[in-house]
Amino acid sequence: MGFKSDIEIAQEAEMQVINQIADSIGIPDQYVENYGKYKAKIDYCYYQEELIHRKDAKVVLVTAINPTPAGEGKTTTTIGLADAMNRLGHKTMVALREPSLGPVFGVKGGAAGGGYAQVVPMEDINLHFTGDLHAIGAANNLIAAMLDNHIHQGNALDIDTNRVAWRRCVDMNDRQLRCVVDGLGGKADGVTRQDGFDITVASEIMAIFCLSNDILDLKERVSRIIVAYSRSGKPVTAGDLHAEGAVAALLKDALKPNLVQTLEGTPAFIHGGPFANIAHGCNSVIATKMGIKLADYMITEAGFGADLGAEKFLDIKCRMSGIRPNAVVLVATIKALKYNGGVPKADLAQENLEALEKGLPNLLKHIENITNVYKLPVVVAINAFPTDTRAELELVRESCKKLGANVALSEVWAKGGEGGEELAKEVVRLCEGESTMEYVYDVNGSIREKIEAIATRVYGASGVEFSPKAAKELKNFEEIGLAGLPICMAKNQYSLTDDAKKLGRPENFKITIRDITASAGAGFLVALTGDIMKMPGLPKVPAAEKIDVDADGVISGLF
Ligand code: ADP
Ligand code: MG
Repeated sequence: MGFKSDIEIAQEAEMQVINQIADSIGIPDQYVENYGKYKAKIDYCYYQEELIHRKDAKVVLVTAINPTPAGEGKTTTTIGLADAMNRLGHKTMVALREPSLGPVFGVKGGAAGGGYAQVVPMEDINLHFTGDLHAIGAANNLIAAMLDNHIHQGNALDIDTNRVAWRRCVDMNDRQLRCVVDGLGGKADGVTRQDGFDITVASEIMAIFCLSNDILDLKERVSRIIVAYSRSGKPVTAGDLHAEGAVAALLKDALKPNLVQTLEGTPAFIHGGPFANIAHGCNSVIATKMGIKLADYMITEAGFGADLGAEKFLDIKCRMSGIRPNAVVLVATIKALKYNGGVPKADLAQENLEALEKGLPNLLKHIENITNVYKLPVVVAINAFPTDTRAELELVRESCKKLGANVALSEVWAKGGEGGEELAKEVVRLCEGESTMEYVYDVNGSIREKIEAIATRVYGASGVEFSPKAAKELKNFEEIGLAGLPICMAKNQYSLTDDAKKLGRPENFKITIRDITASAGAGFLVALTGDIMKMPGLPKVPAAEKIDVDADGVISGLF
């Protein structure tokens, strides 16, 4: 099509050395820990020692309608918006999740934005970056090793080997490891049991990492993780295994936010990246909070659509950290609206005004949620694609206007910050007042009430059904004192319902809760709908087949 690929654009960028970027937002040198020329970690002591008393930035959450499988451009819009804000003279930072290797080598590719709205160095960010994911994997697997060793060494805690809740992890899409039998061999080789691996970003350690306010908070949360149950049904925690100190030690450096830059030199924190289904799907609290003190505007993204990502951002991340967004950017694409109107993936590039009109109620529902449920001001950002037609863009603009929501066309993918100025101006306008946000539910309500509030108020369901297994777990969690935790809904991202095929704005449906699990360390209960995959597999032709590196160490094929 004649467009440059993301990696080609990124490699043409003239980056500033990272110390210059740190300096541009006034971070003293003593807190900057360089990882090469273009990446640095910022010591979290900086927050306590110098930042804590500063005024807070306005916080802008970028979320989206129910997406197509390719993603709708939240990250791209987040980055481009921040560049546009800086162009207009507003001191702005970005906070994003760090990519997992699984999707990079699988279907989705990288997660460092796209076109002329990217964070760089994109190859590093998408591959090992500063090693945080490896550290998180090691921390997770240390607990697994200590747990199985405890059983092997006499099992003083009387752990029921049929009720081990802790799995091993690796940062790869490797379905072969989903279900394994380990501890084979002789008496000296451990206890034989059925086990399995999750992808690292689905680990509770990742969720804890992202929700902790500091290293001591992290340590406490780790000690509360329920790793198994005893034969008499009592929860066994990572604290019972005395693992929390070593786990926190392994994560000491990882917990420092990673500073990089956008193509236009906007400072960006890229730190932590929990799954948006099984976990809450936002970057670390530490990075967001630091950015809130360093800039006047802090732009951040929550994974998936506003039914999942924004809801969890508010009800979990904001509730636990005290962060309060001032405005929401709702990203929509013509493609995704047509997809919600029933057009198959292969035909999305063709103009189709009828399907577009059919898909628009999905956008309307999300606008209603943000204004009526979350009580936040919203602007719709139409992320412009080369395949969009003028007639389609006009139809979306007109329809949104009728719904009372302002619309800004975002051309940051094609033009960088310059293409986001219309959006930036509207964001600044929406941020004028104090935050008016409200949570979706009262955290002191019963587990049932909380789940029902999300399903009916946010998804538009008529009610919730609990499977016998879910009802049993629910009772267990009430008995062991976990009823007061917020809820992390595990649901597909494509539909407002628990059925990925029901697109648009479905009505008269029920949500079925299949199971409930506790992430007691992260501090939420996970309500599972449908089948949620914690260890993805690779597709028939993995993206990895196209990735290469030449004699000079230049990487190609990442997208
Ligand atoms: P999300 O954060 O919503 O998952 P991303 O911002 O990561 O989405 O974008 C997904 C992919 O779509 C990226 O490869 C990006 O380069 C591409 N993309 C995003 N916006 C556009 C656009 N306006 N035109 C063409 N491609 C785009
Ligand atoms: Mg994204």
